[in-house]
Amino acid sequence: MAHPDLLAHRAQFEKSITRLGEGIYTAVGYAASNVHMIEGDSSITIIDTSESTKAAENILAEFQKLSDKPIARIIYTHSHRDHISGATVFAQGRDVPILAHHGFKSDLVAVSDNVPAPNMALGRRTQAQFGIGLSGDERVSLGCGPGDRPMQGLGAGFLPPTQVIEAECDIDLDGVLARLIFAPGETADHMMVWLPEQRILFPGDNWYYSFPNLYAIRGTAYRDFIAWANSLDLIAGLGAEVMAPGHTNPVFGAEQVQEVVTTTRDAIMHVVSHTAAGMNAGQSMDDIAATISLPDHLVDKPWLGEFYGKLSWSARAYAVGTLGWYDGNPTHLGCLSSRSRAEKIAALAGGIEGLWDVLKNDDDPQWKLEVCDHLIALDQPAEAQKAELLTTLSETEINATARNTYLWEAKQLLSRISEGSDT
Ligand SMILES: [Zn+2]
Repeated sequence: MAHPDLLAHRAQFEKSITRLGEGIYTAVGYAASNVHMIEGDSSITIIDTSESTKAAENILAEFQKLSDKPIARIIYTHSHRDHISGATVFAQGRDVPILAHHGFKSDLVAVSDNVPAPNMALGRRTQAQFGIGLSGDERVSLGCGPGDRPMQGLGAGFLPPTQVIEAECDIDLDGVLARLIFAPGETADHMMVWLPEQRILFPGDNWYYSFPNLYAIRGTAYRDFIAWANSLDLIAGLGAEVMAPGHTNPVFGAEQVQEVVTTTRDAIMHVVSHTAAGMNAGQSMDDIAATISLPDHLVDKPWLGEFYGKLSWSARAYAVGTLGWYDGNPTHLGCLSSRSRAEKIAALAGGIEGLWDVLKNDDDPQWKLEVCDHLIALDQPAEAQKAELLTTLSETEINATARNTYLWEAKQLLSRISEGSDT
């Protein structure tokens, strides 16, 4: 079972090649991210390249049905791997210029191996978030793209930028005028492509049909909320008639583009104001996260559904990104180990049996998960119960990355149990 809205959201990345304007197309649903094509007088420009060589090959084959002109340049909207990993396919072995923002730097690329860093944790959590190894039914989607897509050559076709863009500028895409616009958002190195004559915008990942991923649970540094909101304002000011994002379907019509962009800006600023107000009032982070929801004028906007990003995670990320982990409650200046806390909770519950009774009698899955963690910290065999609770939560979860993580981690727990019983 899966949340019906999450199932319906898959319509946002059904496989299609959509015409945006004369000689301008976008490929949606072939990969986690979209690839765009602009046909010039005698050559093609490609914007973003998808996450795998196989997906790139499939898209290139479709684009070649539309035009047999050679690909003359590639533009990266930003450095996330799902946009840069099919470049070798589009370059076709030739020295094709690759344009990117001067700050081009992926927040996924590991730092030097000589420096201690939580790269293994990042790897594990990335697998969980994207449901790597889950079945097609389990992995409804990635929240930003189809769960079911080719994985051959994943991450294999990256080519580094050859032409770093130092300042916003107009460029000639072989007869098509384009403006490269710096617009920090999901990453600081976002460079949007604006075609003023056709009024078509390629905003990268600064907008897609979901509440924005202000914090990725795979693990990410703080994404500047205010900068992202400002970039959405900038988009609103362009007056685009077509917007073809890095994920999900293109948006047609100046009014519709304006509406989705300004409401998404409002949603980001709502997280900022709710969280800042809670912090100023001395509320706990749990209370701030547990009480956040979209205001009335945004709650019915389907493109703000929490399919990919999530309000409560964003509130936590904003607090950590601005004032850091300390929430102002001096109790939290010290800490108990998980085991020590579990021992004390068990004592309160009348012993370990009291904790097991919670799993039988309580009906709050979140509380029962916390109790499972106490039991596991006390070396009690609560892994199966935890896996069952995670699976239950996944069935009503609208967020794809949360659903994938619940199911992925449940499988890890169950395989740990079966490994244990084998030995
Ligand atoms: Zn992306």
